[in-house]
Amino acid sequence: MNRAEMMSRLERHHGPWDIVIVGGGATGMGVAVDAAARGYSVLLVEQSDFGKGTSSRSTKLVHGGVRYLEQGNISLVMEALRERGILRNNAPHIVSNLPFVVPTYDWWESPFYGVGLKVYDLLAGKYNFGRSTILSRNETLRRLPTLQPEGLRGGVVYYDGQFDDARLLIALARTAADRGATLLNYAQVVGLEKGPDGLIQGVVLRALEEEREIRVAARVVINATGPFADGVRRLAEPDAPALIAPSQGIHLVFDRSFLPGDSAIMVPHTRDGRVMFAIPWHGHTLVGTTDTPIGVAALEPQPLDDEVAFILETASQYLHKAPTRSDVLSVFAGIRPLVRSGDSRITAALSRDHTIHIDASGLLTVTGGKWTTYRRMAEDTVNQAAVLARLPDKPCVTQTLRIHGYVAKPGPAGPLRVHGSDAGRIEALAQENPGLAERLHDALPYTAAEVVWAARHEMARTVEDVLARRCRALFLNAAAAIQMAPRAARLMARELGRDAAWERREVEVFTALAGGYLLSMSLQE
Ligand SMILES: Cc1cc2nc3c(=O)[nH]c(=O)nc-3n(C[C@H](O)[C@H](O)[C@H](O)COP(=O)(O)OP(=O)(O)OC[C@H]3O[C@@H](n4cnc5c(N)ncnc54)[C@H](O)[C@@H]3O)c2cc1C
Repeated sequence: MNRAEMMSRLERHHGPWDIVIVGGGATGMGVAVDAAARGYSVLLVEQSDFGKGTSSRSTKLVHGGVRYLEQGNISLVMEALRERGILRNNAPHIVSNLPFVVPTYDWWESPFYGVGLKVYDLLAGKYNFGRSTILSRNETLRRLPTLQPEGLRGGVVYYDGQFDDARLLIALARTAADRGATLLNYAQVVGLEKGPDGLIQGVVLRALEEEREIRVAARVVINATGPFADGVRRLAEPDAPALIAPSQGIHLVFDRSFLPGDSAIMVPHTRDGRVMFAIPWHGHTLVGTTDTPIGVAALEPQPLDDEVAFILETASQYLHKAPTRSDVLSVFAGIRPLVRSGDSRITAALSRDHTIHIDASGLLTVTGGKWTTYRRMAEDTVNQAAVLARLPDKPCVTQTLRIHGYVAKPGPAGPLRVHGSDAGRIEALAQENPGLAERLHDALPYTAAEVVWAARHEMARTVEDVLARRCRALFLNAAAAIQMAPRAARLMARELGRDAAWERREVEVFTALAGGYLLSMSLQE
């Protein structure tokens, strides 16, 4: 998968594409995999890098959603639990099983959550990840040694999935590309072209690196731009009423000492009635999230001071060593593309179901949903799109489609595990050239070989693409990522044939961006 190959696939294609997808997040990439695997001709375009939007900024859970169970949305929970199981079967190198402990401080909590989580187990049926159990106080503290012991009565443990969101996205991109899809990052849709009947028959895209506009014809255009979906709809119908109620959520990342075991903490009721998680992730501790309605979605959303204070306050109620601002290694924000209904000021109460909406122009928008249910969203979308575009009927095959890198028995924990069957090839790169075996920073495990691999095979075009999404340095430790940038830029320049000026500019641009992930520099009132 590389840009030159993709540009040449684009140029070689004659006639309309069966399906053109706008947006390279979980939703769009899921549709690309589904449609390409059915045998349709597929073009996907992403204005920035694949996963630059919400899909690299999630809580990293492949879950049924215990909270939706409490809200009584049984069908959503059942669907998500089923998808959770399917995803672990198809991508065991990226999705793993994680125990979650709900600590209990009141006498009624253990029986109450114990029963609720038994229902969660039952709803999972054959896709169960493990049986929930009530824990004694000692067992709870054994699993979570840093938990606040004062007043602790015990806990309940249940099992859910965890993943690396940006890595799954890249694996999906490669799965789609392997099946013949054409995928272009840094290609923005700037116009939708209508025929004399008023129906959309193509898109105008701006290829940002090549600095040129390209017109492509399509039998159907799918708008999978998440929080930006209304903007794309308005390219066709400037007065289209809003479909999306964007809601921001942030996460704080700390070192592993805050959660040294292998279990996560799930807090079922925060002060604002939400759930909050503290999760071990890539050798660090990830804590979040918030749910703040916002006006306009940005590609690089900024955390709010109140959101940071809220997470620190909640974490300090549960951890005996309270984390402070100076402990934060990285802060990142993402925007949920929730579907508007009734009072959209309370976004926590809005449904996480997905919605397929067809405008009068024939533009098909798919939005809402969750990462966990991306495959099901894609199946529904391609079914609808095929009818709309009168494409030959072809069955969905993704339920058992192995995702790129699939290995039946994933390797040990470590940075290469998420690469699955590609891990050996990355190691071989480092063996051929020992300089590439070197780590880019003492605080993080990533090596120079991974940078080369990302530029050569994963369409990484900038230092940010590599340090934020091909490896997760920026999300784990922003200061370390800044220090890694010059070396990463040098390696990429060599790989992509860029000059010293490009290298300098990349380091400057990345350093400015990464400042937003350092708590001291990123806050907005
Ligand atoms: C804080 C938070 C935590 C979450 N945690 C979880 C979780 O733990 N588990 C879970 O299952 N789900 C979770 N979710 C939900 C999940 O992350 C989202 O549902 C999912 O990522 C949405 O993907 P998307 O593809 O619809 O949107 P996006 O990922 O935002 O993708 C849309 C893409 O469209 C591109 N685009 C926009 N305009 C154009 C244009 N004109 N031309 C070309 N491209 C364009 C954007 O650049 C962007 O990359 C979470 C969400 C948030 C915000």
